[in-house]
Amino acid sequence: MYKILLLPGDGIGPEVVAQARKVLACLVQEHELAVELEEAQVGGSAYALYRDPLPDETLKLARSADAVMLGAVGGPQFDHLDRELRPEKGLLRLRAELDLFANLRPAIMYPALDSASSLKPEHVTGLDILIIRELTGGIYFGEPRGIRTLEGDIRQGFNTLVYSEDEIARIAHIAFRTAQKRNHRLCSVDKANVLEVSELWRDVVGTVHQGYPDVSLSHMYVDNAAMQLVKDPNQFDVVLTDNMFGDILSDIAAMLTGSIGMLPSASLNEKDQGMYEPVHGSAPDIAGKDRANPLATILSVAMMLRYSLNESRLAGLVEQAVHQVIAQGYRTADIVQSGQQPVGTEKMGNAVIHALLQVSHNN
Ligand code: NAD
Repeated sequence: MYKILLLPGDGIGPEVVAQARKVLACLVQEHELAVELEEAQVGGSAYALYRDPLPDETLKLARSADAVMLGAVGGPQFDHLDRELRPEKGLLRLRAELDLFANLRPAIMYPALDSASSLKPEHVTGLDILIIRELTGGIYFGEPRGIRTLEGDIRQGFNTLVYSEDEIARIAHIAFRTAQKRNHRLCSVDKANVLEVSELWRDVVGTVHQGYPDVSLSHMYVDNAAMQLVKDPNQFDVVLTDNMFGDILSDIAAMLTGSIGMLPSASLNEKDQGMYEPVHGSAPDIAGKDRANPLATILSVAMMLRYSLNESRLAGLVEQAVHQVIAQGYRTADIVQSGQQPVGTEKMGNAVIHALLQVSHNN
């Protein structure tokens, strides 16, 4: 019996997580998926109740869960709070407490949505890549950091880019294992022509590769990778990179697919315990209006099934169901094209359930 903690959070979070819950309930009923669901507060909703964006009780439940499903956190009503009390801080602390060092962000192009991409359809047709970003190390966390004043009253900002071998090796293992579950191709992205850290990165990734001879490994400089992603993204299968490069490259990859409402993500630790969440935020502008696209969250359920619950077959069925509703023309407002009538969050969720029942019976 797997334990899943649902953290709906703020804004559209509760609306989209409600659809994910329906998908899980359908899998329990149709496929005897053995899960136990719990729910807790995080972000602004937790602050409103407990004056803490990550209450101890939530953290305790998250630690004991096999997987956490998060909606989104944040909203303008919390922006005046001290940094430590802000909803986003609760999320960052949760990632750090669970040691979620591996961030997986797929970018998949749905045939019917080709025209939503910022690239011409011929460049993105069939796109299916996965960016794996190191999430808890590198320049965003390195010490020393700060702004100091030099002689002559000149201010100087400084950060430290630092990675140890073990940090690189553990994310590389995840990347190779993930490539084994896909098309067996891994491209490691660095800046080894300039940075010593990248030189070590390349060396360690090469060493870890020896344990995965069935995966073909290539290396690419980050500037070239950014160029290749917009020139010929289909050349990639799995891309492995550090925290800062991954931050930038995963956003480029996201834009290739058109809508932020379609992008799921997973963040894993060494025990394959994971937190699964849509890439988008709490979208306060559309919260409570039944306008949010729930597909990113539903696709995050698929990632959870694949990476934390060992249920690749069910993950595939959920993905097939999403493909089917898109092919049938269901569109929320963010992905609607001219001449189409948008559906709301609830209706889109129901359409996925309907499709899931169909694909379940056909498989
Ligand atoms: P956002 O992703 O919430 O919204 C950006 C735009 O995309 C908005 O126009 C929104 O309506 C639209 N959008 C987002 N998700 C959508 C969906 N599922 N369906 C349809 N449209 C969608 O980003 P933002 O406006 O920069 O941030 C709003 C709040 O969310 C802020 O408080 C921010 O800190 C927070 N945030 C949280 C997370 C997270 O919880 N992981 C991530 C990013 C931003």
